[in-house]
Amino acid sequence: MSETYRCRDIAFSLEKRGADQYTKTSYPLRYGVFSEIETPDAILQFNLNDEIIQARGKGRDWPDPQEWLKRTVGNDWIYYSTGGYAGVFEAIGEYYLPNTPYPTNSLIGGKFLSLPSVARLAGSWHDLLRDTAVGHDAPGAILDFLSRVLANSPAVLQKRAEALFAISGGRVTVLPPDARHVDYNVIPLTVAEGCLYKCRFCRVKTDSPFREMEPGEVDRQIRGLKSWYGPNLVNYNALFVGEHDALCADAGLLTASIHKACTALGLFSSVMRGASVFLFASVDSLLNAPEWLFEDLERFPAAIYINVGLESADQETLDRLGKPVTAAMITQAFARMQAINDRFANIEVTANFIIDEELPENHIPAFLRLVRDGLNRKKPKGCIYLSPRRIGRPSRSILFDFHRLKLESRLPTFLYIIQRL
Ligand code: SF4
Repeated sequence: MSETYRCRDIAFSLEKRGADQYTKTSYPLRYGVFSEIETPDAILQFNLNDEIIQARGKGRDWPDPQEWLKRTVGNDWIYYSTGGYAGVFEAIGEYYLPNTPYPTNSLIGGKFLSLPSVARLAGSWHDLLRDTAVGHDAPGAILDFLSRVLANSPAVLQKRAEALFAISGGRVTVLPPDARHVDYNVIPLTVAEGCLYKCRFCRVKTDSPFREMEPGEVDRQIRGLKSWYGPNLVNYNALFVGEHDALCADAGLLTASIHKACTALGLFSSVMRGASVFLFASVDSLLNAPEWLFEDLERFPAAIYINVGLESADQETLDRLGKPVTAAMITQAFARMQAINDRFANIEVTANFIIDEELPENHIPAFLRLVRDGLNRKKPKGCIYLSPRRIGRPSRSILFDFHRLKLESRLPTFLYIIQRL
């Protein structure tokens, strides 16, 4: 039960209960258990480790009272904008658009983070907290809470983020687009580093060759994650199994790691209902994965999302992108994706394709042969994510192409906005 204490014009609410299920709504919804401090200038929210996670300004210069700042576990401040709800939902499948502080491939959005009111709050929330000092007659629980959140200064939070990256051997540079279903609130566990292809066009690849983790390394990560997330673990019900091609890891290692991590990290006893697991796959790993792996994952009590980078079904385009697979393999991988989605209710395989104005002319016709002509009906499952090739280059003509392709596709089709953890 949440305890609220008011001191002059400041309200403190400890351990408030938000929604217990991720839901797509056109109004702000807070999830899980969190604490809140409301001052005349802002509403600040904290997780169960007393770290700031959300903030909204209350002044007249705040862009929109329905919009807010979110601080990620990687210590990025992200601004959630409505951008005119209908357009955003059509484009990304969510009502709110995440605006990131780093360059990404988004075609929509604005420079909200540099607006004075937004930049001020992201940069001065800790000073604001210091100003909320309450009298010594306040309840002990409030005084303790205030001293704990003050101790989690921006410098401390940055160090915490670096400690998280160290657990799995580095920062997660890209999350699967499907992580939008849990607002990107995932716990990162790496079962294999790197990827097979090192495609020329890719900006998120690592230099290291593909390497599977030893079971002992996975166990060590799980212990590290449990300790890092601490009391706030109860707010998590989703796992990201990294890195760029977890499906390429040994199938036994993959399923054992998922089972172990979800159990040890308490994802089934989270305050958030319904566990999810997200991972990336490649064309090779999707084609080579044994059927029993999907049968095993299907029995697992979590929704499994596997995202595969197909990029193009046109050979000239694949060659231009420097992706070392053939168009025939892309067609086979697309067929396996459909077969898995048709057979397994708890598994959704989704795919990414590139969009860009400067790709060979057969790229779009080849894409439509798969997602329109290759399917005899519209399907609700198996999202297609179109990813603009260039970073920081919003383009009206690509956005126009996206809307046209979305209409023609027989699969749910959205833009992929690259987000890191
Ligand atoms: S697109 Fe995927 S497979 Fe290709 S280099 Fe990037 S991470 Fe690796």
